[in-house]
Amino acid sequence: MNIVLLGATGSIGESTLKVIRKHRDRLNLVGIAANQNIEKLAQIAYEFGVPHVGIFDESAYATAKAGTAFPVTTQLHCGLAGLEELAALPAADTTLVAVVGTHGLLPALRAIEAGKTLAVASKEILVLAGKFIMQAAQKSGSLILPVDSEHNAIFQCLNPNPPSERSDSQRSTQHVDKLILTASGGSFRDLPVEQLKHVTLEQALQHPNWDMGPKVTIDAATMANKGLEMIEARWLFGMRAEQVQAVIHPQSIVHSMVQYVDGSVLAQLCPPDMTFAIQHCLLYPDRGAGVVAPLDFSQAMQLDFHAPDLQRYPCLALARQAMEACGVANGIFNAANEVAVEAFVSGKLKFVEIAAIIEKTLDSIENVEPSSLDEVLHYDQLARQNAANFVQKI
Ligand code: MG
Repeated sequence: MNIVLLGATGSIGESTLKVIRKHRDRLNLVGIAANQNIEKLAQIAYEFGVPHVGIFDESAYATAKAGTAFPVTTQLHCGLAGLEELAALPAADTTLVAVVGTHGLLPALRAIEAGKTLAVASKEILVLAGKFIMQAAQKSGSLILPVDSEHNAIFQCLNPNPPSERSDSQRSTQHVDKLILTASGGSFRDLPVEQLKHVTLEQALQHPNWDMGPKVTIDAATMANKGLEMIEARWLFGMRAEQVQAVIHPQSIVHSMVQYVDGSVLAQLCPPDMTFAIQHCLLYPDRGAGVVAPLDFSQAMQLDFHAPDLQRYPCLALARQAMEACGVANGIFNAANEVAVEAFVSGKLKFVEIAAIIEKTLDSIENVEPSSLDEVLHYDQLARQNAANFVQKI
């Protein structure tokens, strides 16, 4: 299996490399890309003998082109166009997109149009352009495999016996009543709600279970992350808004569940480590020994579940509102959240003000049904401007 990895230097990228290292006889890295970390990209290129390297940042690309960091045989690709080339690389079977923000959107679409299997890690892709991505996949027959642990869990619960041919039907959602996404509840799940006013960035970055980047860790604390995942799940699995639920599960062992109309619930369990979901995607429909030790049921284990308190997690209610409105509201929620989190990280906003910025931004733009990706991106920009203005005024 030939793999292209967009976002090779981030947290998902690192976990993906662990999986490839473990299964070098079955997985071959043919392309990698990152924003600007030339040193790390060069290291990966040497270790895995990667022929194609994409560098998003143009000045970093120029530096790499002029320097000697990479093997002489490496072909360098520049900017967004470079990422699009890599995504559709003729040699690739699977393109894994784990690019931060909205820059993964066009490369993901190129991969689908070229008939590659798309392993999707960047939430923005489906949140912003779920309609267009799913349409394109239907047209090209591309398989979309979810890397996010919750969606990967749901995918596995919907396909307990994967087809032997990769080109077979993506999944069956017949008889599904609802999808239940589990959430850790983030850094402040046990803090009295009135103390949320005083929490610091440092405290927000202490995630109880997962080791992730700062943006996702803060999104886990507000549960905006789960909101984005609900929207993503809706598109991926063709559900109605009311069929997608979130539940707090502090242990992060059950990664999500599918409840069928007869009341049966299927769940996927494994330790909270991204290599499980990534490996499932890269080896699919095959399986192989995992990178880290599996669950050990000879040890006592407790699994708890409870409904999220919307006083504590107002971002979750806003996400549901956006999901129900559909149209460009999904992207507006995402953009406003991104701006608000950045402002919190740089000390311009309090933790509890993140939700207020999202709410104001959603209210400031009339929701429409987008007819093109350009329109989606236009509303993304507009939402960012509005959110930035609201941050200034707060
Ligand atoms: Mg997740």
